[in-house]
Amino acid sequence: MTSLHHTLTILGATGSIGVSTLDVVARYPERFSVYALTGASQIDKLFEQSLQFKPRYAVVLDDLAAESLRARLHAAGSQTEVRCGEAALIEVSTAPEVTAVMAAIVGAAGMPPTLAAARAGKRVLLANKETLVLAGQLFMDAVNASGAELLPIDSEHNAIFQVLPRAHREHPYAQTLQDVGVRRILLTASGGPFRTRPIETFDAITPAEAVKHPKWSMGRKISVDSASLMNKGLEVIEARWLFNARLDEISVVVHPQSIVHSMVEYTDGSVLAQLGEPDMRTPIAYGLAYPERVDAGVRALDLFAAGRLDFEAPDYDRFPCLRLAFDALRAGGAAPAVLNAANEIAVAAFLDGKLPFNGIPVLIEAVLADCVTDCRAETLADLLAADTLARECATRRLT
Ligand code: NAD
Ligand code: MG
Repeated sequence: MTSLHHTLTILGATGSIGVSTLDVVARYPERFSVYALTGASQIDKLFEQSLQFKPRYAVVLDDLAAESLRARLHAAGSQTEVRCGEAALIEVSTAPEVTAVMAAIVGAAGMPPTLAAARAGKRVLLANKETLVLAGQLFMDAVNASGAELLPIDSEHNAIFQVLPRAHREHPYAQTLQDVGVRRILLTASGGPFRTRPIETFDAITPAEAVKHPKWSMGRKISVDSASLMNKGLEVIEARWLFNARLDEISVVVHPQSIVHSMVEYTDGSVLAQLGEPDMRTPIAYGLAYPERVDAGVRALDLFAAGRLDFEAPDYDRFPCLRLAFDALRAGGAAPAVLNAANEIAVAAFLDGKLPFNGIPVLIEAVLADCVTDCRAETLADLLAADTLARECATRRLT
């Protein structure tokens, strides 16, 4: 069911997506109110956001942060109550007052509250792609069982959603893509900052170079993923689940200008695309206002300034992470969960200066080889166990 007014929980409010979400929310106080804001770090930002948006709850990860935030909010005369821990994240994602949950925590840590929101039948604005990589089948089963409204926020998936036939977009598991005349999903990729960098210099890539994305401003983890093209790999898995697509119905197209955000090819030869400035407020506003449209504060696309749009095939030798993700999706079972966990450890190690950039795919491949066969993938507990095992295995290999 859609309603003009939404009461929101924003998971990961202090991050890049969280801040962009609040920017859109602030433009429409009559449409959106904030029930809860959550953040793991950047408590100063959470404090400021709590004063501005007056949520009923602010949720942090640990007691220490909770104590200090509570004292500061109290001193500032705020009515916001401070909670902490995973149980609190789940409570604010499932509370009856909440109609929509923005899932913008980074990494597998975002999965439990996002799944809880889906089970509770909320409108789920899904930025946290790792939820679908870790537990795609379970998550989509939960959405289908509860009637939750799932709106992709990842720019590519939001673009695909916008150009799919409405029947498929709203009930993707009622029929196949083929049934609605879709031949292929064309997932665009910017190619990241190292698309043309000489491959023999990849071992010298620094964290500062890797997080400096040419087109998008994002959190550190997804920026490194974009540089290795693991982000595109995770997005292939995300697309598989969101749109009930087979692997051979998803193609990756490198498009350095990041103006075409993705495309859908129909059986009659038509290709429909969604274009726009690379600004996450567009998909966020789309998800918040769906099925209506609102001004997102995004400047109009100037095609004359853009001048040209280029397209090229992805280079799997340069970016082995993309191939690893396709392989993990093909293998199924716990492989995507293991891939995701190993990638999180690898990216953190790279950002810490403990692993060279081109060591990221090497570590992930080794962890997949080490532990996938030991993992089951039937239940949520199985997947969480696979996630833990892969993290342990990756950490052991690093020391
Ligand atoms: P970010 O690092 O800027 O923000 C992450 C948020 O999650 C912060 O609020 C942080 O405090 C919180 N957080 C981190 N670890 C946590 C934990 N263990 N438990 C609870 N909260 C935790 O990240 P981002 O760029 O905003 O990305 C968020 C998600 O959205 C990611 O899954 C990313 O892949 C996806 N996404 C981001 C963009 C983008 O443009 N930034 C685009 C598409 C998809
Ligand atoms: Mg994306």
